[in-house]
Amino acid sequence: MAPSASQLFAEISTPEPPAAPEVLMRRAVVLGGSMAGLMAARVLSDHAEEVVIVERDGTDVDAGPRPGVPQGSQVHALLPAGQVQLERWFPGFTDDAVAAGAPNPGRNDAKIFINDELRQAQDAPPEMPILITTRPFLEAQVRRKVLEIGNVRMVFGRAEGLRFGERGVTGARYVPAGGDEPVELDTDLVVDAMGRSSRLGDWLEEAGWPRAPMRRMPIKLNYASALFERDEAVSDTWVAISQTTPDKGRVARIGGINSVEGDRWIMLVAGYDDDRPTRDAGEFAARCRRHYPAMFGDIAERGRMIGNVITYHQADSRRRDFHELDRLPAGLVAAGDAVASFNPVYGQGMTSAILHASCLSAYLRGRPDLASEPAKAYFDRVRVIVDAAWQVSTFADLGLPHIVDGHPRGYKVIRWASNVILKASMTDSVTSQRLNRVTAMIGHPAELAKPSVLLRALRVNLFRGR
Ligand SMILES: Cc1cc2nc3c(=O)[nH]c(=O)nc-3n(C[C@H](O)[C@H](O)[C@H](O)COP(=O)(O)OP(=O)(O)OC[C@H]3O[C@@H](n4cnc5c(N)ncnc54)[C@H](O)[C@@H]3O)c2cc1C
Repeated sequence: MAPSASQLFAEISTPEPPAAPEVLMRRAVVLGGSMAGLMAARVLSDHAEEVVIVERDGTDVDAGPRPGVPQGSQVHALLPAGQVQLERWFPGFTDDAVAAGAPNPGRNDAKIFINDELRQAQDAPPEMPILITTRPFLEAQVRRKVLEIGNVRMVFGRAEGLRFGERGVTGARYVPAGGDEPVELDTDLVVDAMGRSSRLGDWLEEAGWPRAPMRRMPIKLNYASALFERDEAVSDTWVAISQTTPDKGRVARIGGINSVEGDRWIMLVAGYDDDRPTRDAGEFAARCRRHYPAMFGDIAERGRMIGNVITYHQADSRRRDFHELDRLPAGLVAAGDAVASFNPVYGQGMTSAILHASCLSAYLRGRPDLASEPAKAYFDRVRVIVDAAWQVSTFADLGLPHIVDGHPRGYKVIRWASNVILKASMTDSVTSQRLNRVTAMIGHPAELAKPSVLLRALRVNLFRGR
């Protein structure tokens, strides 16, 4: 019997150390050196004599946010499943990140507000780790570890296309930084990790292959983040998340405060559609005071801002369904946002990218014929991860008032059940931990579909009502 999606999900996201390396190819080329590309390179270093990462951004990438990852100035939370996988691929990752300056708050130092109510229940199961940093810091830790591996190197330049043989990809072309003559690298496997604007689809079509079908969900999300000096006299907050869900008279908003490296807070306020935070520091503070719990206003009004408020707009969540293609060249895979990019408020992007690397590992351990077989077995695994994240984020987003179609059959019943579970999670630790396993991508969403979960939540809410 074929394994279920939740069995595959558990298999892919295992924390067990990977098996011994086995070389299957001479060279692998990874296009894009951000989270997905770096993690793919780590996995490929076990299976290729040489791994070359082609990255457009220059060598000063450790200095902070960079042009190729414009979202890097915004709050980035690493979900526990992502951290588990980072530990799996780089044992000691968390300790090293803490030694490099990442704060190490306790498991119970996060305050979560749903519709202005503080969650009383303990929400983190003990197996969940916690690591809080800015996005550039986290990426720099991963990059350092990947580039320490002897058979991995990074070259700087813009990837421009692929060379195709009869059955699959045989080369990748890039223009080195500062030059204009393209360089072609022979390769046994190419990984597209060029993010959500990847041009792989154009390259495939130009060579007579179909592009992966794309699904989009228009979220119209507006972000604004700012950094502040951490000051206990202003607030003792380590981590705070505030979410309001849309309902009659209630507008969907999300806000976050993370204590990050360098003794700083990074703060986020976000809204949808025409609810747009601006770059004005006064407006940022007023918004914090008006729409969020007290610590948001305290930090924004009395804290010392470092730099400016930075805004970001994301029009849609999108996924490219490579698993649906019946024709795909051999020797080609895609990972990270190049496959699926979600509404960032759920913090799934980096963790998904890291899990795609674990899919790649599972695929390669099956010793595929890279020269003549399309990587269907890889994309079937990636689909399991994408479906799980997509299900959680797009289902929640279907409640946004500006999303008028795409609601699945039975939507109202599922929405009702989700609200019951969310409400119970505010006071009941068992429900809260069950919910958190899924939102943290430790567990598959099917875990919440068990009748026992709903029954317990109903009981909790009934007694709470009394
Ligand atoms: C506002 C916002 C907030 C977010 N918050 C979170 C969060 O809290 N938690 C979370 O997990 N995720 C979050 N995300 C998502 C996260 O940023 C992405 O999922 C993650 O960066 C995906 O990594 P990636 O490597 O696939 O792509 P990217 O990070 O987009 O990197 C693509 C890389 O490819 C390079 N590249 C592109 N084209 C070329 C080319 N032609 N040649 C060579 N190199 C090229 C780029 O320079 C870049 O390095 C957020 C996203 C946004 C927009």
